[in-house]
Amino acid sequence: MADATRVALIGGSGFVGSNLCRRLLHSDNYDVKVFDLVSDKVEMRLENRLDLLDFTRMDIAEAGGGLEEAVRWADVVVNMPAFVRPASFVSDPLSIVDLNFFDNLKVIEACVKEGKFLVHFSTSEVYGKTGGSEAAFREDETDCILGPIENHRWIYSCAKQLLDRIIHAHGMQNGLNFFSVRPFNFVGPLMDYLYNDPKSQETPRVLASFASALLYDQPLKLVNGGKSRRCFTYIDDAVDAIELLIRNRMKVNRRIVNVGVPGNETTIHDLAHLVRDIYRKEHNPDVRSEIIEVSGDDFYGKGYEDCDRRLPDISRLQALGWKPKYDLRETFSASLAYISANRERLEAMNA
Ligand code: UDP
Repeated sequence: MADATRVALIGGSGFVGSNLCRRLLHSDNYDVKVFDLVSDKVEMRLENRLDLLDFTRMDIAEAGGGLEEAVRWADVVVNMPAFVRPASFVSDPLSIVDLNFFDNLKVIEACVKEGKFLVHFSTSEVYGKTGGSEAAFREDETDCILGPIENHRWIYSCAKQLLDRIIHAHGMQNGLNFFSVRPFNFVGPLMDYLYNDPKSQETPRVLASFASALLYDQPLKLVNGGKSRRCFTYIDDAVDAIELLIRNRMKVNRRIVNVGVPGNETTIHDLAHLVRDIYRKEHNPDVRSEIIEVSGDDFYGKGYEDCDRRLPDISRLQALGWKPKYDLRETFSASLAYISANRERLEAMNA
């Protein structure tokens, strides 16, 4: 593939990376290499196209672990290694900074050194709380509002915010070409993990948490009443958006781009009712799974604080012609269908 764009997916066997890899390999325009600690998720996602996978084990925490070679090979470097579960922000904040800040910085600096185009994964968490505003979050205008230091919920947001500032400064001072994606609650195949011990204190993000509860007929837990609002984006829509951005990367050079579906906004309370309804209609009419309320401290531990609402302005992405295909119900219907169909493999992955 002489004219194909060489894309290095660093941390490419996570939830987003494995789905993005599958999407890019559907096109002849890309020559894709995946770099990660393990390859289980990307292998599972590629299913019968496994022969297309070019995987290299790499630990970016290790000096001389192969990062420079990977960046040198690529035209476009996608930076994805991350711990992303809010539960881990409060239980192990220092590891969050090690991986999400220091290790990610190495990828950014390698792109600066080698003059390569960086596709960086920022997060909608960078915006923090709304501060009472009803306005949608805009990439270049919205203030980032975080809670006090002892609420470690915000350490992830803070680390990612500093990276966004460093990347922007490298664009300004060192000519780095990049765009940064701000994902708004992507959900779908291979997000987090299932847990099958109802007594465990496991806390994956909300899709895996509710799916585990439904599979094992346990209660769905609403943290602090489930008042918070999120806009959920089905991963197929998300990776279509990212591919579109990569294809048009010079049009969004040195920009941050929100990727999300404002029309899929819901409270977590309403989401719990929706997913239970989908599960009963499409999988098991007998499941009871009552919906109960729990406090943030009981569910996550001390130091949890929530983003009250995350609504994206997506005009920058829409200007490229992106239109999402999945509404809220379809997003969770497709996600639950994948989990149900692959239940045994997903459970084995967690073991
Ligand atoms: N949440 C919940 N019950 C769960 C898991 C999550 O009520 O079993 C809530 C959580 O407190 C937050 C929202 O669902 O308000 C989304 O949480 P998630 O962990 O998916 O990610 P976030 O959007 O907070 O990064």
